[in-house]
Amino acid sequence: MLKVHNLSVNYRGTEALNSVSLAIHAGELVGLIGPNGAGKSTLLKALLGLVAMHAGQVLFEERPLVHQRQRVAYVPQRSQIDWDYPVTAWNVVMMARTVRTGWLRSPNPRSRQAVEAAMQRLGVWDLRDRQIGELSGGQQQRVFLARAIAQDADLFFFDEPFNAIDKTTEAVILDLLAELKAHDKTVLVCSHEWGQALNRYDRLLLLNQRLVADGDPQQVMTLDNIQRAYGENLQPSERPAEMPFFC
Ligand code: ADP
Ligand code: MG
Repeated sequence: MLKVHNLSVNYRGTEALNSVSLAIHAGELVGLIGPNGAGKSTLLKALLGLVAMHAGQVLFEERPLVHQRQRVAYVPQRSQIDWDYPVTAWNVVMMARTVRTGWLRSPNPRSRQAVEAAMQRLGVWDLRDRQIGELSGGQQQRVFLARAIAQDADLFFFDEPFNAIDKTTEAVILDLLAELKAHDKTVLVCSHEWGQALNRYDRLLLLNQRLVADGDPQQVMTLDNIQRAYGENLQPSERPAEMPFFC
């Protein structure tokens, strides 16, 4: 189980997360939702120790998660990746393995096999020699997901994986999420989606600096909770046609 206790993060004095507590069980597929700037990406980064916590505790199976970083596969949000970095799709996926073996050693056969299997699984093996920056948004997302599964992790953090992708990639991601769940992995997916799509999660965490609601999708997406999380920030363009879907 992943347990987060009273996590707070400040950026140069500005509060990004205020005393967030939550728990996620193995085999649970959890959606972390909230408006832009709510702190979703910050929460993932704080769990990983990539941004400093002002206060709080993050435990995975009763031990600090930062000491078990190799058990977490993390796919950052598109905007946080440097797509001009000169690296092939294969190299991106192999990074999952060099974390363990080190950059200086050439990859062992087991790692090569894991990389190929992951790339085949995500349908990007044929793209292995292409530069990451040349691929479409959906293909890039699938390469990063292949990196995540090549890592043999127990915890998966995906930041906005459904952004800027095609229908094929969406189907591949949904299939992958179901498979991870079936293998009892712990999966946390950030999203600013609305409506029917939220039913794909077992549980939703609705965030806006604080945790506004935590429960199954129907419980969480009430008009009251949505207003508490989105407040005046809810732009007409962000409002889906079917809103409030769950009310
Ligand atoms: P979300 O992913 O929900 O859109 P973020 O976690 O990216 O939200 O951002 C939360 C808040 O923290 C926003 O107000 C954002 O401007 C701010 N923020 C994010 N990253 C930084 C940073 N590196 N330095 C300063 N402020 C930041
Ligand atoms: Mg974000």
